[in-house]
Parts: sequence; structure tokens; C-alpha cells
Amino acid sequence: MVSDSVSILTPTDDNNPMPVSTNDDDYLSDAAATIALLSFSTDSSSSSNSHRKPATATVIFVSLVVSTCVSLSAAAAFAFLFFYSSPANSNSTAEVSRPLTTLKNPVVLLVSLDGFRFGYQFKTDTPNIDRLIENGTEAELGLIPVFPTLTFPNHYSIVTGLYPAHHGIVNNFFIDPQTGDFFTMASHEPKWWLGEPLWETVANHGLKASTYFWPGSEVKKGSWKCPKEYCMFYNSSVPFVDRVDAVLNYFDLPSNEIPSFMTLYFEDPDHQGHKVGPDDPRINEAIARVDKMLGRLINGLEKRGVFEDVSIVLVGDHGMVGTCDKKIIFLDDLANWIQIPKEWIQSYTPLLAISPPSGFLPKEVVTKMNEVLKSGNVNNGEYLRVYLKEDLLRRLHYSDSDRIPSIIGLVEEGFKVEQTRSVRQECGGAHGYDNGVFSMRSIFVAHGPRFGRGRKVPSFENVEIYNLVTEILNINGAQNNGTESFRRSVLLPEN
Ligand SMILES: [Zn+2]
Repeated sequence: MVSDSVSILTPTDDNNPMPVSTNDDDYLSDAAATIALLSFSTDSSSSSNSHRKPATATVIFVSLVVSTCVSLSAAAAFAFLFFYSSPANSNSTAEVSRPLTTLKNPVVLLVSLDGFRFGYQFKTDTPNIDRLIENGTEAELGLIPVFPTLTFPNHYSIVTGLYPAHHGIVNNFFIDPQTGDFFTMASHEPKWWLGEPLWETVANHGLKASTYFWPGSEVKKGSWKCPKEYCMFYNSSVPFVDRVDAVLNYFDLPSNEIPSFMTLYFEDPDHQGHKVGPDDPRINEAIARVDKMLGRLINGLEKRGVFEDVSIVLVGDHGMVGTCDKKIIFLDDLANWIQIPKEWIQSYTPLLAISPPSGFLPKEVVTKMNEVLKSGNVNNGEYLRVYLKEDLLRRLHYSDSDRIPSIIGLVEEGFKVEQTRSVRQECGGAHGYDNGVFSMRSIFVAHGPRFGRGRKVPSFENVEIYNLVTEILNINGAQNNGTESFRRSVLLPEN
């Protein structure tokens, strides 16, 4: 949950030990052996020795042809059966949702692995994530975060279905221009938290929700009163196992008291990613650690006989990118042409947010800054571009809020912005960049009665998840930025 600042794992990353299936090789070996046998028998019939044992050669030839035909037929039949019975092939099977066997009502458990960049699952053994992927539905190339790709804006988008400009949490830290009040990650006053998060929607429908940490969950809004036993105040020192066990304990309650919606949050692998960067082998320990926690969760659910009944929605809030190689832009380097004092800055990096005081026209500041940055006189200046917020690319959805400062700077992936040259630790990991950058993607894996097994869906933005959850719980959600069609394209039709 650390705010900020980090590397990218692409499918072609050399460090990425992609598991390679040997099935194709086996199939090829078998086919090659069959062809070799046929060649041998055909050749032998015309070989110089063929006249000596023509009958034997013919028998061998015929039997090989027959056995080959039988093998091929069997293979074809197997392929047919596999194709039409494979649960992964939901289109051809018209797979439908599976009925609950133990629970009385649907339960959605939303799990966040902070900073779990898409591709981490290939860096080390993650048997539990793999199990959910194999038996559930996965965004094949990852979950797309909202901009800015920071912890608080993204966690709150996941539970409200709203872009940050609409749910109000536009950064991890910001200032309300009306009142001058500061928002920090410890601000729990309802005035900051707009929109309707899932726990509130669930409570509005008379159902129970529980939150074992999630940004915004401590805020009392509408029917959500953050009840003591069901709403944990954020405390990073609570061991991960205690969080898992607390969630499991909810399933030991009488059925009418089991929360319909639960959250569970882990700070890793974000913390480790900031420290060592996403391409350092030491990230693997953090990945393995959260996978182990998922194993504990799955085992606990299995012991209670509810693993197949619970809808587990596993997400991350954003990815991570390495920030080494002196890729820094210092604002003081612009000072000979335009002064950007630190008092104007609401956040530096990777999201540069500038709020000039009255008396300075934001448009003139933007024009001058870009002129200087492009001039070649500023080290790495070409990797930072500043915009009036209303001129940002529309796909970033980052202008419709007065909490967003008037000037926003975007740095290229892996670059950082600082005020003054310093001897600060340079290497590590960061996030907060353009959400179109692949390294900012996280994961989406969902397992449960409404999710196809072994199914892959194209990547999507995390504002779609709100509608997915309300659909599984059969409740009406609040208006949001998710699309109507998404839930139908991902969830299995009801049986
Ligand atoms: Zn972070």
C-alpha cells in the first residue's frame, strides 16, 4: 500500500520461466514413430530382402496399417470426446452455473494482492493461484487498472465500479480545493469517499458484508456502519495468517450470519516490489508467500465443504515497474526558464500533479514547461509531458473532478520526477503510470459456481468488477462506469 514509486514483466521477458507443455512433443513423437514404422514396412516390401519373406512382410505391413488405422480412429474419437466434454471449452458445451451444495446463499470473497503484477505467477511456483486459474476464469493477459495506477484509487474503483474522478479518491494524497483539507490514506470521513462501495450496496439490501481491510471500508456510509466484528480497521501489523483465519471463521457462523460479501487484503507483493523492483529474484519470496496464504484459504474452505460454493474473486490493484538507470527528471533543472516551486506540487511521481496559485495561468505554465522539457536542456526532459487536465487522453478518465489539480504530468514508464538532485535510493519499483502500460496490469482470477472452469477472457478494466459481484449476489447495484454486457460475457448463465 506504500504510495509510491518501480519494472515490467512482459510475456517475452527473458526472466520469465514460462511453463512449457510437453504434450505437443509427446504427440509429435508418437506420430513420428508411426510414420517411421510405416516407412519401414513400405520400404521393406521393396527391399532386396523382400523376396525371401514376402508373406511375412505383407502380414507385417497389413497389421501395421490396421493398427495404425485403429490408433488414428481411437485418437480421433478421443479428440472428439475431449473437445466436446472439455470444461475449458465453454462455448461448445454451453456450460451453465453449478448449484450451491452447502451454502444457503451466494457468497463472494474479494481478495486483493497489492501490486501483483501480471506475470508474477510465472516467476515462481504458485500452486494455489494455478489451481484457481485451472478451475476458474482468468483475464488471460491480466486486469487493467484505472489511472492513476495507485493503490487507493484502484481499490476503490474495484468496489464502486467508478473511475477515480467519479468516486473521489483521485490519488493516495490530495487536497480538496474547496476547503483546503488534506486527504491521506488514513482519512475516514465520508465526504471524501463518493459512490457506493459494494459493502454498502450489500448492506442496503439487508445482507451482511465483512471487510478484512480494504481502502474505504472503515468509512460509515448509508446502511454500512462498519460493524465491529465484520469491519477491521487497517493495521498492517496483523499477520497474513490471522486475516485468512478470520475470514474462514465467518463460514463457521450460522448460515444467516455468514456475510454475503467479504474482502481480504494483503500488502504483498507490493511492499517487496517497491524495495527490490519486480525483476529482482527477491520478489519471488513475496509472491510465494501470498500464494501460500491462498492455499491456507482454499484448504480452510475445503475443510468446511464450501470451497466450490464460494465465489473467490482474486485481483490486484496495479502492477510494478523497475526504476533504476538514473531515469529521473528534476524540476529544479527547469528553473532557468520556469520556476516550479515545491509548494505547487501535490504529488511528484509517477503522477506529477501541479496546482499553481492564483495569479498563474495553468495554460501558460503548461506551454512553458513543455517547451523547456522538449528543448534538450533538461536531463530526461523528453520523457515528461505536462497537460491541462482537460487535455489528457480521454481513455484516462482523469479530468471530471475539482480534486484533480489543473496540471498533470505523465512520465514514461520507469521514469521518476523529483524536485532536487539528491543521493536518495534510486533503484526499486514504482507504479502510478499510464494504465495503458503493460507493466501496470495485475491479475484477475475468479473461481466459483458462476465461473467457467479453465476459461480465459480478454483483459478488462477493473471498474467492471462491481457489476460482476452484484450479479452473483442477485442484487441491484448502484450506477457505475462498468458496462452492462460485461457480466454476461464473463459469468456462466444461471442453471
Ligand atoms: Zn505500492
